[in-house]
Formats: sequence, C-alpha cells, structure tokens
Amino acid sequence: MESTGLGSTLNANQTTAPKRSVAVIGAGWAGLAAAVRATQNGDQVTLFEATQQVGGRARCVNLKPLDSGVAGARSEATLRLDNGQHILIGAYHRTLDLMRTVGVNPQTLLMRLPLTLRYPDQSGFAIPRLPFPLNLAVGILAARGWSAADKWGLLQTAWQWQRSHFSCAAQSTVADICKSLSPPVWRDLIEPLCVAALNTPAEQASAAVFLRVLKDALWGPSGSSDLLLPQVDLGRLMPEAARAWLEQNGALLVMGHRVEALSPVHQASGTALVSTCAGSENINGWHINGEFFDHVVIATPALDAANLVHEHAPAWAAQARNLKYQAIATVYVQAALGTRLSQPMLALRTHTHAPAQFVFDRGQICIGPHTGTGATNAATPGLLAFVASAPQVDRMSVQSQVLEQAREQLNLNGLHVLQTVMEKRATLACTPGLIRPLGQVTTRLTACGDYIAGPYPSTLEGAVRSGFASL
Ligand SMILES: Cc1cc2nc3c(=O)[nH]c(=O)nc-3n(C[C@H](O)[C@H](O)[C@H](O)COP(=O)(O)OP(=O)(O)OC[C@H]3O[C@@H](n4cnc5c(N)ncnc54)[C@H](O)[C@@H]3O)c2cc1C
Repeated sequence: MESTGLGSTLNANQTTAPKRSVAVIGAGWAGLAAAVRATQNGDQVTLFEATQQVGGRARCVNLKPLDSGVAGARSEATLRLDNGQHILIGAYHRTLDLMRTVGVNPQTLLMRLPLTLRYPDQSGFAIPRLPFPLNLAVGILAARGWSAADKWGLLQTAWQWQRSHFSCAAQSTVADICKSLSPPVWRDLIEPLCVAALNTPAEQASAAVFLRVLKDALWGPSGSSDLLLPQVDLGRLMPEAARAWLEQNGALLVMGHRVEALSPVHQASGTALVSTCAGSENINGWHINGEFFDHVVIATPALDAANLVHEHAPAWAAQARNLKYQAIATVYVQAALGTRLSQPMLALRTHTHAPAQFVFDRGQICIGPHTGTGATNAATPGLLAFVASAPQVDRMSVQSQVLEQAREQLNLNGLHVLQTVMEKRATLACTPGLIRPLGQVTTRLTACGDYIAGPYPSTLEGAVRSGFASL
C-alpha cells in the first residue's frame, strides 16, 4: 500500500505541536465511534477497513432485483435490506449521541414505541412511559393473558430486583433469578426479553448483565425502555453519515484494506522491531505497512484482534480467542402487498421447530424510497423480517421452519423468501462470569468492539461505548 503520508514527523517550519496520528482498524460501529471521537479530539485519523463497506455487523446489504422476485415499482431497483434486523432502546444514549454528531436525526430515522411484547393473539406486555416503578407496575397489571397470581409473582420479583439495585451474584443465570416466576411470565416475558437484549437463551444467560440492561431501561429517564426501530437500512442509520463526517473533518478512510500486522516502534531507535521479546515499556508508536502512528485502536471482531496482537500481548490475545458466540438468522419474506401485522413488531411462540422469536413488519416501520443511489429501501407493504436468535439448525432449515411458523402463528401463506442471512458470530454468548478483554492491550495500543469489557452485552451501544472509551 502507498504511504498515506500521515506520519507524525515534524516539519522544520511547524511551530504548533503536531497532531497525534491515530490509526483505527475496522469500520464497524465501534471503529466509527473511535474515529469520530479521535477526530473531535484533534487527532489525525486514518481508518482502515477490510471491506468496501462501513458498518461491520450492522450494515446494509443490497438485494439484486432478480433475487427479489417482487413485482411492481421496485423490480428495477436494488432493494436495500440489512445483514440482520436490529432493535435499539431509548437507553442507548451513546449510540444516539453518535448519530447526532454525524448529522443523523434519531427522531426521524428511528420509530419510537413503548416497550411492547405482544403476540399475534394480542396477549403480552407493554411498558408505558411513566417513571419507575410506576411504568413496571402499570405494565404488569395491564398485561394480557396472565392470571392475578402470575402478575403478583412478577411484581414481587421486580420489587426484590429493585431493592437489590438490580445486582446479583456474577455466576447466576437469568433462570436462577426468575425461579419464583410462573411459567406464563417466564415464557411470555423473560425468555423473549432476554434473547432480545442478550441474544442468549435465558437458561444460559448472565443475570448480572440482564439486570443491568433492565435497570438502565426501566429505571432510567422517561423513554429509556422505548424500542427504537430503524426506519431506514442500517447503512443510512449511522455508518454512511459517519463516513461522510469523517471525510469532511479530515480523516483518511482506507477502504478494502485488511491490516495484517502491527509492529511496535521503540523510543530508543525509532525503528520498527520485529522481535517478539521486546518489552512494552518503551513503545512510542506502531507501524502499519511501514507507516508510523502514535496510537492504534483495533476495532475488529475479537478473533481478528487476537491475530493482530498475539505477538505483542499474548495473554490479551488468548482471552479474546476464548470467547464464545451466538448466531442470529434473519429471514426476509414478502407477503401479499396488503399484509399488515397488528403491531410493527410482534413476539412469536418458539419451540423446537419454530425458531423465530420476533417478526418485524418493515412495510409499517420503514420510510420512503431513498433517492439518489438507484436503490430503494424496504418500505414495501408486506415485507417481513423474522429473527431467530441462537438458532439450533442451519440456514436452510431455519428458513423452512420460519415459513411454517408464519403459517401457523400468523396465518400467512404464499410467502416469498427474499433473503435469509445467517450471521454465525453475531454476538458474544453472554453467560455468567464471562470475562471479556479490557480495552487497553499494551502501550499505545487499545481495542474496542462489542466484546470488550463493559456494562453492556454485545450490542450497538456496547460497541459505541467502547469506541468512545478507546482513546
Ligand atoms: C444479525 C444481527 C442482529 C443483531 N441485532 C442487534 C440488535 O438488535 N441490537 C443491538 O444493539 N445489536 C445487535 N447486534 C449486534 C451488533 O450488530 C454488534 O454488536 C455491533 O455491530 C458490533 O460492532 P463492532 O464495531 O464491535 O464490530 P464489527 O461490526 O464486527 O466491526 C468490525 C469491522 O472490522 C473490520 N475488520 C476486521 N478485520 C480487519 C482487519 N484486519 N483490517 C481492517 N478491517 C478489519 C470488519 O470488516 C468490520 O467492518 C446484532 C448483530 C447481528 C449480526
């Protein structure tokens, strides 16, 4: 690769201090947050991304017209879908801040709904926008399909969680802290809420992280528990605006370039060392492709980060390598154009052959065609996204089981599958006692991403927070 010319060598005539040169490796939501923060700090930023696209695991995918099989207005245009349907919540403050910083208005691009878990038969639960604990109490008392005893049990358990400030033993699972809840409450509320928040089945999920998310959502300022559903594809929601903002503010984006190695530069000689036994104390920067950077932020997924640093920080790399993951499958289907679900998002009943926990009516959620790119977004009546978190079967089996589930639970027939995306390493498995790598890797080398230690599970908010904290 040619030199990007951004080394920190002082010009003889320069009177002011040179800018710190910072390399960010990876342009997912964490890397974009880190690059924006560094640029705001006055650093000279170079952002390397292996692919031609920004957004990482929360990105837009273009569906070719021939694949779509949908007659009508968009048959000649590319359909912009996502690699997976995403949900944000009102408590994702850092993510919303990042959107505003790069010029995106969350109010116009996110559909805000009170937290609602309704099933096709309209049973379920909704949290009104009231202060805690009124929001929870009213939500529980108004829940449909539960007996008085079910509701009383949940109220008592919620009261205990509140008294313990939503904290619990690090080794507890969500099942452990919900033992006193009735089967309907467990099935209709805890299981879907846990899988939506942690992408991990409630029997295996960390109770400490679950309670932390509940606390921020329920106990935070009004609107914290609201569901925020993207009304545009994920590229337009933030990453493409961040890319434009970075370019306008002097950052250099090197797209389609996978960083393969990092070499420490030591104070004494100023030359790159290849020796793996060199200490970290005297490092004053890093070389990437022979170019010097004062600081490097690794914003790749954990396995790529481990490969990049294993010579320089073996213990950190070993921890990053040992993490376990959960998959998510998203099945996009086109129903008849007149199809409209009773809610923009519905919970579904799961069992061995019914893997989807949620279905999203993108015809109701998404807004207008996007002009200027030759692509439309998914604002088409009848376009549904079924989400199966932690599926136990392969892509094609999930797809056929989801079609059957849609027939059984939504009474929908004649569905046309547009695309099924299986992300095998969608998020970390958020299990009790999970020890995640810290953001500091070694001298002048930090890491960010949804797998880095922090209060949040593997989510957009976790990624963005760690990006902001990485400099
Ligand atoms: C299907 C699905 C559904 C999800 N649903 C939700 C949800 O509803 N709500 C929510 O909050 N979160 C959800 N998530 C999780 C969320 O998408 C992730 O937590 C977040 O996108 C992770 O961002 P990141 O920046 O940490 O990593 P990534 O997005 O993985 O970004 C890493 C980037 O680094 C690049 N890269 C890798 N190696 C190199 C290299 N050597 N050199 C240069 N570049 C490199 C990659 O190409 C990538 O662009 C979901 C994830 C998936 C997959």
